Amino acid sequence: MQQKSIRQIVIVGGGTAGWMTAAALSNFIDPKHCQITLVESEQIGTVGVGEATIPHIRVFNQMLGIDEKDFLTQTQATFKLGIKFCGWGDQGQDYFHPFGAHGFEIDKLPFHQYWLHARNQGDTSALDDYSFSITAAKNNKFCFPDESSNSIYSSFSYAYHLDANLYAQYLRTYSEQRGVKRVTGLIAEVAKNATDGFVTSVILNDGQQIKGDLFIDCSGFRSLLINKALNVSFEDWSHWLPCNSAIAVPCETEGEPLAYTQSIAHDAGWQWQIPLQHRIGNGHVFCSEFMTKEQAQDILLNNLPAAPMAEPKQLHFKTGMHEKSWSKNCVAIGLSSGFLEPLESTSIYLIQLGIYKLMELLPDMHFSSVDEDEFNRVVKDEYLKVRDFLILHYKLSDPNKSPFWRYCHDMPIPDSLEQRMALFKETGYFSEYSAGLFLTPSWLSVFIGQGYFPDNIDPRVETLNFDAVSKQLQNMRHYLQQSVDAIPTHKNALNALLKGQ
Ligand code: FAD
Repeated sequence: MQQKSIRQIVIVGGGTAGWMTAAALSNFIDPKHCQITLVESEQIGTVGVGEATIPHIRVFNQMLGIDEKDFLTQTQATFKLGIKFCGWGDQGQDYFHPFGAHGFEIDKLPFHQYWLHARNQGDTSALDDYSFSITAAKNNKFCFPDESSNSIYSSFSYAYHLDANLYAQYLRTYSEQRGVKRVTGLIAEVAKNATDGFVTSVILNDGQQIKGDLFIDCSGFRSLLINKALNVSFEDWSHWLPCNSAIAVPCETEGEPLAYTQSIAHDAGWQWQIPLQHRIGNGHVFCSEFMTKEQAQDILLNNLPAAPMAEPKQLHFKTGMHEKSWSKNCVAIGLSSGFLEPLESTSIYLIQLGIYKLMELLPDMHFSSVDEDEFNRVVKDEYLKVRDFLILHYKLSDPNKSPFWRYCHDMPIPDSLEQRMALFKETGYFSEYSAGLFLTPSWLSVFIGQGYFPDNIDPRVETLNFDAVSKQLQNMRHYLQQSVDAIPTHKNALNALLKGQ
């Protein structure tokens, strides 16, 4: 009888994508029936700067049965309540993109309609004042959300700042304990079947041949299989997201770790600051057409919160994605599939999405094109949504800051984003995605944070008594501040978990 189920999976690459994939598959597949082999090259190494995450990583860790305390200890992680954007909006104003909603239910309409109404009547409170995550972040406080109740403590979520290299090592141990075989060496050649073009094996430069039924391309920007071997073309989005370089350097910790990532706008890009337990991760993402690498490095080193701990590391990238992430018997996950710059910490999430979808559609030896098409549709759809959200930050930025920001302000944008912006401008509403990563609270944060207000609001809210709405908003702010006052500092919350204090 012909073999139906796949018996050998080969993962090419041992960066975050490779080891996350290995961990998830080894947890899902019985090694007696299917051998998983991961090939990585110590000579090439990994990108390993993916340090800021979004809340979905917790679901991934839970799926693997990972203990949170163990994970925080092993990866030197801290908690993250959102991102503070410094100097992105109008007149250099700062704003937060929180993991959570703004405000609570007042009546039947979305909270922001009441807030916009009050603002139009002269109320000066900021949208940020109605977010638990933001108020906690500003006070450097943290507590775990109460997911089971309707209390204020259920209005937010959290993610982690982590050491990506330690996370990959952690998942390597996890995977090897579950039967994943690790091979080190440089892949020199990819062999394909002459008839259908399917990948049959990868050949290392010492001559070792690793055969497989299904190949997962986690080879990073090299895209060894999906692009080099299978010739899937790359869709370039750098005209919309023009940053193409980064310089990264860790520095010593300074004071208590913040419970949020910082994104600080500079003349031709922006700088990240990501607080871990043992260091702060820093990097400057910039566009080399508007700034030299020497200038970019000077800006980074002059704006570090503490002394650097290593030599700066340079990275180059092109924003975009492959036309297909799954082609024939090869599935690309991670940087080999595509890259969207790290402004909203989305790469690890996109890895996760690829893994979930692969587990759902795990092929047998027939490799149905239905599975392939569905995988490609879902992955591309999510990339497009994240892409538009990232472009929004650049499009709304103050054009007077520098020629780079002028370019971003004036550039034409995708129709999909144009429509979303027009709808919000006209009505104060969003064409809601039924699913996906960035929903109303995220879009609202960036629109309002960067000074993009609607011309009209829901007419129903305008008929309400302003004094009554204003009183409710005031009570809400008071209650929120009281609730934040009652929770521990970020450092104490972290220590309580790590040391059982
Ligand atoms: P890599 O880390 O590049 O791994 C590639 C693997 O392939 C390596 O093991 C290498 O040895 C192997 N390989 C390649 N060629 C061969 C060969 N010929 N033979 C054998 N092995 C080979 N993501 C976030 O979620 N949050 C962030 O804050 C964030 N910040 C980022 C900042 C920057 C500047 C950049 C560039 C990326 C950032 N990312 C972030 C993305 C994140 O770093 C990546 O998504 C993540 O590291 C996954 O990378 P990867 O595993 O796909 O590729």
